[in-house]
Amino acid sequence: MAEKLEELESFVIPGKIDIPNTYFAGLAGSRFLIELRDNRRIMGIKCPACNWVYVPPRSTCKVCFSKLEDWVEVSDKGTLLTCAIAYQPSPVQPVEPPIAYGIVHLDGADSGFVHLLGEVDFDQLRIGMRVQAVFKEERAGSILDIKYFKPLG
Ligand SMILES: [Zn+2]
Repeated sequence: MAEKLEELESFVIPGKIDIPNTYFAGLAGSRFLIELRDNRRIMGIKCPACNWVYVPPRSTCKVCFSKLEDWVEVSDKGTLLTCAIAYQPSPVQPVEPPIAYGIVHLDGADSGFVHLLGEVDFDQLRIGMRVQAVFKEERAGSILDIKYFKPLG
C-alpha cells in the first residue's frame, strides 16, 4: 500500500465551504446570554469545591470536574489582562478592522473574559488598565450584547 501511495501524484482541490447553522448554547450558556439580553448582568458560575468563578459560565469545573450550578453576578468592571489588535479583515470578526481584543479579568470572576475593546486609542491600551462593559441598547441574546469594554475613568 505504501508503495502505491508513493506512486500517486499529490492532488489538492481548493474549495470553500460556508455552513450556516444554529446550535443550542447549553443550559449555562443560555442563562448567561439571557441575563445579558434582559438584565445587562454578567453572570458567572462558581465551583463548590474550588470556589473558582467562571465567566462565561460552564456546566462542569475544568479543574475538579464538579457539576456547576451556583450562579453569581460578577461586576461589569474589570482589569485588562492582555490585548491584541487585528488589522486584517476576517469573516469571523464582528466589526471591521482595525479591532482591539482583550482578555478582561472581571471583578468577582477568576477566569479571563475575551471581548472587544472600544472608546480607546490603541496606543493607550495598557495591561492592568481598568475597563467597563458597554452594553448595546438593543440586545438580542448574544455575546455582542456587550458592545465592548471601554477604559474606566
Ligand atoms: Zn472545581
